[in-house]
Amino acid sequence: MGQHVLVTGGAGYIGAHACKTLKAAGYIPVTFDNLANGWREAVRYGPFEQGDLSDRARLEKVFSQWQPVAVMHFAALSLVGDAMRDPGTYWRANVLGSLNLIEATVAAGCRNFVFSSTCATYGDQDGVVLDEDTPQQPINAYGKSKQAIEQMLGDFKTSHGLQSVVFRYFNVAGADPDGEIGEFHQPETHLIPLMLDAIDGKRPALTVFGTDYPTRDGTCIRDYVHVMDLVDAHVRGLRWLEAGGASQVFCLGTGKGFSVREVIDQSRAVTNREVPVIYGDRRAGDAVSLVCGSARAVRELGWQPTRSNMATMIADAWRWHQNGGFSK
Ligand code: UDP
Repeated sequence: MGQHVLVTGGAGYIGAHACKTLKAAGYIPVTFDNLANGWREAVRYGPFEQGDLSDRARLEKVFSQWQPVAVMHFAALSLVGDAMRDPGTYWRANVLGSLNLIEATVAAGCRNFVFSSTCATYGDQDGVVLDEDTPQQPINAYGKSKQAIEQMLGDFKTSHGLQSVVFRYFNVAGADPDGEIGEFHQPETHLIPLMLDAIDGKRPALTVFGTDYPTRDGTCIRDYVHVMDLVDAHVRGLRWLEAGGASQVFCLGTGKGFSVREVIDQSRAVTNREVPVIYGDRRAGDAVSLVCGSARAVRELGWQPTRSNMATMIADAWRWHQNGGFSK
């Protein structure tokens, strides 16, 4: 019988892929999710506990029932636009929710914590390859709330011996190559799923947000990582902690940026279909170029992304997209 790992947000895009990978690695993932943005159908690899991080009593019950050896914390609100409109909701859900979770983790005697943070904690530092040594300067409540949680983890290490691995990453793409799970948000705001919708006529067109950026083709540049490579790093992080590794921060990316136009070109090539495109204005809050250096993860965790090339990410996402998605 494997050991339990509590996965908050396990019904969401990245969390569900983490559960699949944890199961394959011999753990039993216990999903804790309020289903606000997740899907019951995505919980396929272990038990499900419906609950909200604001409910400390519920968390304590779940810890006492499953006795997890570690926590993987994905549950969060994560849309920059919403965070700009309604920062209070972001601070409450992300920071207070995480505080409840961290306190419940420590109270249950669990000392290993893997946290899904973000390159949004760096703010807008165009032209710089972001890595663990880059100073954090978040510019919205989303990035600030994630930075606050990173700092909280530092305090709980000092006072309670809670060891944590923090991953900072940005653009996650692709889907389970077996086609069981994939990316599905409602409403959808991300480039690749919106583009696939436009390709197969579920939306009239993809709007490209801005063509006058100071980049090689005028559109924004991002570093895309395949979701399976990303969750592989999380399991490596968990093993690192179990082997007695000290708390550490890792950036996860490929070090190679793709412009929006390049992603569109790749999609045309992979799907062999036209991409209906409208060229629109810049989206408020978008950084020009975000690229992430992952030398530390490669060196310390032995992380070797195998599916994070653009053609594979789009092919996997396209296969999933054609299967249809989830329903509530
Ligand atoms: N983007 C776009 N049209 C869309 C959605 C996104 O042109 O309908 C661009 C966006 O401006 C950014 C990139 O695609 O440069 C990736 O955006 P996404 O929302 O997928 O991720 P983010 O980088 O905001 O985390």
